[in-house]
Amino acid sequence: QDTSVRRRIQVLDPRLANQIAAGEVVERPASVVKELVENAIDAGGSRIDIEVEVGGARLIRVRDDGCGIAEDDLPLSLSRHATSKIASLEELEGVASLGFRGEALASVSSVSRLELVSNVEDDPRGGWRVVAEGRNMEPRVTPAPHPRGTSVTVRDLFFNTPARRKFLRTEKTEFGHVEETFRRQALSRFDIGWTLRHNSKTLHQLPVAESVEERERRLRSLLGKDFLGNALNLDIAAGGLRLWGWVGLPTHSRAQADQQYFFVNGRVVRDRLVAHAIRQAYRDVLFHGRHPVFVLYLEVDPTVVDVNVHPTKHEVRFRDGRMVHDFLFSSLHRALGEARAGGERDAGQ
Ligand code: ADP
Ligand code: MG
Repeated sequence: QDTSVRRRIQVLDPRLANQIAAGEVVERPASVVKELVENAIDAGGSRIDIEVEVGGARLIRVRDDGCGIAEDDLPLSLSRHATSKIASLEELEGVASLGFRGEALASVSSVSRLELVSNVEDDPRGGWRVVAEGRNMEPRVTPAPHPRGTSVTVRDLFFNTPARRKFLRTEKTEFGHVEETFRRQALSRFDIGWTLRHNSKTLHQLPVAESVEERERRLRSLLGKDFLGNALNLDIAAGGLRLWGWVGLPTHSRAQADQQYFFVNGRVVRDRLVAHAIRQAYRDVLFHGRHPVFVLYLEVDPTVVDVNVHPTKHEVRFRDGRMVHDFLFSSLHRALGEARAGGERDAGQ
């Protein structure tokens, strides 16, 4: 069409608006897994089962045993800007749930064939199903049995947006991204039991991990034996901040920054300030160009961190960045220094 001709302004059709919004959060099957699993975590259950076929391009299913969605709320759950997680700006400022934008299901359902079955009761004969295909119709709610909790199935991602479908890589690559998403999310919550299946094969089965031993077993199965054999466990609290987890010894660096997991209040975060503090702490002990490994958890009061920076919420903003930076640096610097001193003592014996 000729853009030089002035056209009247019109409000976008909701389906198109959702498809545009989907561009921000739904890049590939792994992003769908991330969003569905975040919802499953927010639902507060104790187990999450994930199933994908053909790298997630054909099917993604996430099942939880959380709070479920009431029949009346089902159609609304697929609407844009509809959320049960916040109701005011005050609640946004202290938000503890992973979701709050009310966009994921609307976005995903606009670019796939989505089916959601849910039950809020303990009776497994109860439950309701809602189906949406590219959101071209009003979602219909019909009875369907389901134990307490929710199953969301996403088929044929990008079936109606061929330009995006073309960007999907091979099954192996897409599944690699799904598995990495799974790894992060399973590391984010030890109090949840997880399974991951690909093309009907169970690849990960992780029971709830309470004790340090059980947690380390989970780390071993997700990151390999090498990681734990060369990491030290730390837990440091000061000034309302707590940092715990595992950091690799300087003797166990990697050529790539591919085993670095940092969580802020259970949310996977990539942050320049955090990255800088960690780099500084390792500066004197690591060869140039090598990367440390770590799985670290920072716990802060939710009101001192802003998570509403980016739609994927991978970024955060700390109210007092300097303080967080210094706390991270000094905690890690000390832990690594003690490890080195300990190592030298042992070597001298
Ligand atoms: P958000 O997570 O930002 O609220 P979503 O589009 O991801 O937005 O989900 C919309 C709403 O649907 C949620 O606020 C929640 O009430 C409900 N919901 C989605 N998935 C689940 C689930 N697995 N269990 C319970 N409720 C869910
Ligand atoms: Mg969500």
